[in-house]
Amino acid sequence: SHQYVSERCAELMGKDLKDTKIITCHLGNGASISAVDGGKCINTSMGLTPLGGIMMGTRCGDIDPAVAVYMARQTGMTPDELDTAFNKKSGMLGVSGISSDSRDIEDAYFAGNERAILTMDVYVNRIINMIGGYVMQLGHVDAIAFTAGLGENSTFTRELILKALTEGLGLSIDYELNGKIRGKEVCISKEDSKVQAWIVPTNEELVIARDTYRILGF
Ligand code: AMP
Repeated sequence: SHQYVSERCAELMGKDLKDTKIITCHLGNGASISAVDGGKCINTSMGLTPLGGIMMGTRCGDIDPAVAVYMARQTGMTPDELDTAFNKKSGMLGVSGISSDSRDIEDAYFAGNERAILTMDVYVNRIINMIGGYVMQLGHVDAIAFTAGLGENSTFTRELILKALTEGLGLSIDYELNGKIRGKEVCISKEDSKVQAWIVPTNEELVIARDTYRILGF
């Protein structure tokens, strides 16, 4: 997904991939962020397993490792039970106590539900912390690209993230346009934005097919 989106984003920007620095945000039920420098991924939020990194639908993302020890000591949970708790009962579902689906959390957020508000605070906080680190590592950034379920469709989540990054990155965003775009290749930043913001629907299958074709030597 990160490969497809960074390549496509460079193409849409009318730039040569090797001259671009792009941060790709794959925000779906599973979620990860990557820093792509000249087409090469130089950092990613993904760890040994998909559990690491930013908060996800039901996965906790990065947490203090002592949490696992504490939970095991306090509750007697087995490794398998901890695995299930961190992978299937945490993240948006765990923090909100409502759902792993951002649409349900968004509804609750606007109804003033405190845990839904906390969920979005934590979600956005984790993402902007990750992006901030990547910006330092890249030196400068040409574009931030959003993809996957939330990245392509949740105008509200995009708005929260972009607003949180505005001062740090010198962003200038067309929020009216952002509010209308779902699942389309569109630049939602304005001309004067120091970093462009793009929505680029992902196509992991195409990358897999191309890689398979290449590896099999056709
Ligand atoms: P994915 O794993 O990429 O299929 O993403 C699935 C997640 O994307 C769902 O759990 C929702 O949280 C979110 N999502 C999908 N469609 C929408 C939508 N129209 N508006 C807001 N969020 C959406």
